[in-house]
Amino acid sequence: MNIILLGPPGAGKGTQAAYLCKEYAIPHISTGDMFRAAVKAGTRLGLTAKSYMDRGDLVPDDVTIGIVGERLSEPDTQNGFLLDGFPRTIPQAEALQAVLLRIGKDLTAVVNIEVPEEELVTRLTGRLVCMACGATYHRVLNPSPLRDFCGVCNGPLITRADDAEATVRSRLEVYRKQTEPLISYYQSIGKLENINGLLPIDEVTALLRSVLTE
Ligand code: ADP
Ligand code: ADP
Ligand code: ZN
Repeated sequence: MNIILLGPPGAGKGTQAAYLCKEYAIPHISTGDMFRAAVKAGTRLGLTAKSYMDRGDLVPDDVTIGIVGERLSEPDTQNGFLLDGFPRTIPQAEALQAVLLRIGKDLTAVVNIEVPEEELVTRLTGRLVCMACGATYHRVLNPSPLRDFCGVCNGPLITRADDAEATVRSRLEVYRKQTEPLISYYQSIGKLENINGLLPIDEVTALLRSVLTE
């Protein structure tokens, strides 16, 4: 199962990826998580990525394509993978096709999670993330059973700096300009499935499951 989860920031990609990757036993490849790990570790990649992420801009394509190409060559992708937050530009999508061709894989499906813009702002500005394990919650829409601590690992929950409203607005603008064109791109190669991301989390998971196993 080689899956891409497409959709604007806040659509629920990370939330759904956690369920699907467990169920299908495939690695969750999130470029956002990879960049945040690099920032935390203080590597050169992290230093480069941080300046773009703080502004809500995209990290340059060459950097991003490089790390995903390497990640997809690792042995744990043998039985499949789920890409979350990549590709985000047409050049990234084209580079991905080239990598897949080289490693002899094809996409099973590209699922576009549709959510209207005002709901995205509500979701992102209320998002809480576990500092220890990365699990995602929402203050109101999806609270942790332990309130300010993670229901999975007990770690402290924080608000991502780029989830401040001003940065959220620029990320949505960046999405519209640079990422939204991927919907037509994947439609034109016959891979696209659209699903309603406004439904409750478990119903979105059920829709994804049915789309992926049809
Ligand atoms: P993405 O990875 O697409 O940016 P997340 O999975 O981090 O999105 O979800 C963004 C926020 O919305 C989180 O706070 C999450 O708990 C919440 N959320 C995710 N899916 C839903 C849903 N179906 N209904 C309500 N809130 C949701
Ligand atoms: P979101 O919750 O918006 O889905 P992510 O965690 O996927 O956020 O991404 C956070 C930030 O990391 C982005 O705003 C961007 O700066 C950077 N980033 C993540 N994925 C990519 C990508 N494929 N191309 C360029 N930049 C990326
Ligand atoms: Zn946790």
